[in-house]
Amino acid sequence: MSFADLGLSDELLRAVTEAGYSEPTPIQASAIPSVLMMRDLIGIAQTGTGKTASFVLPMIDILAQGRTRALMPRSLILEPTRELAAQVAENFEKYGQYHKLSMALLIGGVQMGDQVKALEKGVDVLIATPGRLMDLFERGKILLTGCELLVIDEADRMLDMGFIPDIETICSKLPKTRQTLLFSATMPPPIKKLADKFLSNPKTIEVARPATTNTNITQRLVPTRADRKREVLRSLLQSEEIHTAIIFCNRKTTVRELNKSLRSHGYASGEIHGDMDQSARIAELDRFKRGDINILVASDVAARGLDVKGVSHVFNFDAPWHPDDYVHRIGRTGRAGAKGSAFTFVTSEDAENIANIEKLTGQTIERVTVGERAEPPAEAPAAERPRRERKRSERRPAPTPAEAEAKPVERAAPPPRAKEERRDRRRHRDDDGADDGGWNGPIPAFLEVTLGR
Ligand code: AMP
Repeated sequence: MSFADLGLSDELLRAVTEAGYSEPTPIQASAIPSVLMMRDLIGIAQTGTGKTASFVLPMIDILAQGRTRALMPRSLILEPTRELAAQVAENFEKYGQYHKLSMALLIGGVQMGDQVKALEKGVDVLIATPGRLMDLFERGKILLTGCELLVIDEADRMLDMGFIPDIETICSKLPKTRQTLLFSATMPPPIKKLADKFLSNPKTIEVARPATTNTNITQRLVPTRADRKREVLRSLLQSEEIHTAIIFCNRKTTVRELNKSLRSHGYASGEIHGDMDQSARIAELDRFKRGDINILVASDVAARGLDVKGVSHVFNFDAPWHPDDYVHRIGRTGRAGAKGSAFTFVTSEDAENIANIEKLTGQTIERVTVGERAEPPAEAPAAERPRRERKRSERRPAPTPAEAEAKPVERAAPPPRAKEERRDRRRHRDDDGADDGGWNGPIPAFLEVTLGR
């Protein structure tokens, strides 16, 4: 099957060829013809499967007909995080270079004035996070009655972040006759309910979960002790052929401390977490994409869905609390057919988390020993023993008050799924807990981009 068989325009085929893609991925092959025929669609697919192009490509051809109207976007794409929204915008720029479509990005952390100006002119594509979209809607700055194509991307992530009530409100403001595409890595009951309510006779396409079937990713568990993690990590960074690596930690403080430690050992590393404002996050990501740094220490939400080419290694410095996060984390490597390695550090406290991960992925992950002293913990981790009993080499400075109070980043201990809907209402409305006033730098080009002009 080639892209030419999918019914896309010559302009799009040219853009796809220039992007270097020779054939469609399975989700693209199944989704594109149906979207072009204006059908509703449920795509059960992870990032890494090519799902973004599966909706961006046909949308560009559909929107090529018709005209924009002030305040009334013609199509809407909802994304859970600012980074994902920015990535989808980049996809529109790349594939839409031979079309004359206008696009606006509506995300928290950016001054509202510029976003309103873009909307006032009229846009073909509006890419938004639900919180910011609701704010503008409530202020009467946007009308959704002309929006005939809606994409709800990463729906299960939206659920985790408490966006479902906002999405229901948004859906009810759009014309009933619209086309709706919903993408989700998993289909928990609240997402199924959402799909039943707002999609009409959808075609369902399911592609394999990367974590369960992506044999391109070599997964390993590294039993260690909490106080030896950095040493074991450095040992792996030396012994493995690292091209680029993302290292995930469960807490923001760990992200900061680990990055500092790696830099002091001479590694070209950077960090990304929810305490950084949007411009700082994007700047750090750009350094990583450009190759100024080849190691990025990250927290879960900040790194969600990051699409960086050629990430050779993922390290879970902390085993994730929630098995879905494991799937998302290791999916940063082994993308689009490339090989990747994922190492997860395991302490005596992680047994239950690992059991949940192995249950979800349906596979037993190989245990490996790294470094002579990195055998499985025979005694309680040093951090649990009284300070005076600890060996000199194990001692760390007493935690600062901030560290002592450090709370898990972005997600507390994994809540049972049944509580998810109740949690929805309590959670923050924008991604990553950062407030909306955080953008200090110049407005980046992708906030208001006119394609192909
Ligand atoms: P996504 O699942 O949308 O996050 O895409 C994952 C990665 O696959 C991105 O880097 C895309 O640029 C890349 N990609 C998308 N479609 C194709 C294709 N047909 N062939 C090769 N790579 C692709």
